[in-house]
Amino acid sequence: MNSDIAKLKRELIDIGKRIAMEKLVVGPGGNISARMGDRIYIKASGSSFEDATEEDYIGVEIESGKTVDSDKRPSSEIWMHLECYKKREDVKAVIHTHPVYSIAFAFQDESLKPFTPDMVALLGGEIPVIEYVVPGGKEFAEAVGEIIKNHNGVLVKNHGLVTVGSNLKEALYRTLLIESSIKVIFVAKLFGKMRFFTKEQIDEIDNLEVEKYRKKLLKERF
Ligand SMILES: [Zn+2]
Repeated sequence: MNSDIAKLKRELIDIGKRIAMEKLVVGPGGNISARMGDRIYIKASGSSFEDATEEDYIGVEIESGKTVDSDKRPSSEIWMHLECYKKREDVKAVIHTHPVYSIAFAFQDESLKPFTPDMVALLGGEIPVIEYVVPGGKEFAEAVGEIIKNHNGVLVKNHGLVTVGSNLKEALYRTLLIESSIKVIFVAKLFGKMRFFTKEQIDEIDNLEVEKYRKKLLKERF
């Protein structure tokens, strides 16, 4: 196997294990992929993040959707992944998980708005909610792709979360930050008060040199 492909598969395995460790999915739920040239590598259908090996991450051509180096079938969400890559050239990784707080928050029908500097710097804006669509099909792919055109993540009602990034680490950090931010909202509501950033506060952070530096660091491959 080409060494670049082997390295990418190693990253996919590592990120997958982290997703399992963080309990962002249960069993074979969820799927991740990363772009390499005109193809992506994506988790195979039915494999779990805990146990996935190199053979469980398979190549698929972005334009045709054809599997290139395996007899296994790609994740049933392959169309959704491909749609994210087609919609944005800068997207190099897609992570789809089923995190507890994100699923619960999606029922509220409210976009996740920034209220910490990390959220402004990493998420790059609001994370919208879309209505439930039967998973696995092109309708789901189109609904997610429409949001990903202008956002780095989307909450899907009765289902879960999709994030994108310029590499797997960035997409994972976005997933973790969305889930932990929603936990903050939950706890803040128990205490009784919370406040989102104003437009001015968001612009102020966007203009800070330190945040630009952080964004740059996160975009570098690890
Ligand atoms: Zn799912």
